[in-house]
Amino acid sequence: MRSFVILTAALAVAFLSADAAARERAEIRCVMHLHSDYTRAGNDTLEELVVKARAAGIHAVIPTDHASASFEWTPFPFAALLSLRKEFPSIMFSSPEKYLIDIARLEKKYPDMIIIPGAEVAADYSWSGSPLSGDLIVKGWHRHMLVVGMEDPDDYRNLPAVGITGGASFEPIMFWPVFLIIAGYGFLRSRPRRGLALFLCGVVLLAGNYPFKSRRADGASASFAGKNVSRVLPTASPSDAGPYQALADYAASRGALTFWAHPEAGNNEEFRSGLPPALPPVKVRSVTEPYPEMLRSTRDYSGFAVFAEGYRIAGAPGGLWDDILLEYCDGKRPAPVWAVSELDYGGDSFGAPIDILQNVLWIEPSLARPTKKDILRAIERGSFYALWKGKSHGLRLKDFYVEGSRGSRAIFGGSVISDGRDILAHIEIESSDAVAAPVKITLIADGKVVGIIETTAPGRIRHRFSPPRQSRNNNKAGAIKGYVRFIVEAGYPDTIATNPVFYTSEAAK
Ligand SMILES: [Zn+2]
Repeated sequence: MRSFVILTAALAVAFLSADAAARERAEIRCVMHLHSDYTRAGNDTLEELVVKARAAGIHAVIPTDHASASFEWTPFPFAALLSLRKEFPSIMFSSPEKYLIDIARLEKKYPDMIIIPGAEVAADYSWSGSPLSGDLIVKGWHRHMLVVGMEDPDDYRNLPAVGITGGASFEPIMFWPVFLIIAGYGFLRSRPRRGLALFLCGVVLLAGNYPFKSRRADGASASFAGKNVSRVLPTASPSDAGPYQALADYAASRGALTFWAHPEAGNNEEFRSGLPPALPPVKVRSVTEPYPEMLRSTRDYSGFAVFAEGYRIAGAPGGLWDDILLEYCDGKRPAPVWAVSELDYGGDSFGAPIDILQNVLWIEPSLARPTKKDILRAIERGSFYALWKGKSHGLRLKDFYVEGSRGSRAIFGGSVISDGRDILAHIEIESSDAVAAPVKITLIADGKVVGIIETTAPGRIRHRFSPPRQSRNNNKAGAIKGYVRFIVEAGYPDTIATNPVFYTSEAAK
């Protein structure tokens, strides 16, 4: 009897807190992936970005200037003596200290704003073609991850990233000039002039090969000339994921979050660069194919940009993201990944307002003035939805929760208990322009569309349904874990993609 009373009391507390969590909360609007004039992609100063975001009702800003932006072609056997190098402005090009001090100064000046330092990072690229045949291509240089929340300048200096420490691999063969040095030394007595020449050549070439690293060309050569590049270039294979996995692991070790940027965007541009010494400029084409499959080949990262370049393949119902979430539910991944909105904003030339792509974070009500840590924790937990709004108005979730069994409730990123009964989705939706608009809500559970509901904004739906895994398992004992997520659309581009709510049977807990 006594234990029953205690249990009832405990449940009552659980009910109350679940209710409170669903009803009262602070809503923080966060924009990420903005470029300042620290990089070539941006025109605004960091302060101009913050002021613009603030004026648009945004309270958390995550600038992500390029950590480093360079590529280098170092032909064997001459390496640095005949190398081609291009470097653009970046955090490392200025200095990570300056970047972080600038951000700290802005936080002081605008205390109502949370500014989290971030960096856009390329972890790898490869070469094909040659300058002689005029078809030199730097490939995959635009595969980007966003690293968010690193506050120590040394963390930037040690990033396993292109142009910093990582990427190129150590090649013992780059020590080959040592043989010239040895041969030269051997000749010194018998034929001093030839010996000295060989010796000096060896020293110069050896110095030129420092730091004895080279970047792989992926077997491609001049035979590429004249062919259709997009057909010839392979897309990402799992072996490409290594450097990015190392980057995500490194960021995690520094307490930072990582997000795949624009996974479905390709990039194709041309640069000119001089080959020293004083040779005519060489044409370099940069080609990056879309890389959504990299999402599945990597793990332990925090999320990917669903908007605006990740919703067709990765974020679509039954797409890569759903595969990844199911892997997590099946215990094949240690953590789920979240869907975020990224801007890739570079100033007024962006052609759209700074608030067009947002992450709407739901923060605990007790956090009247959330700190940077609170914001990062909300992102880490998936307590947000990704919003893509029209220029003048946008959708808003006024209320949202998923209810499982025994009154368990959760918002995005959370988890409810399921004992086999239907799950309830409660969604209240409104539009910032207060004009009634038709809205389509797509319910996705366990990777499948389980319902499409037509309604209007403002409006409210309460929908009961049985997720596929639960229906399948209803008559069996044992653990189940699955998830539900929602896409809300009100005509292009008005869209919301929520992060998932998981459900678990008691046995799975
Ligand atoms: Zn990028």
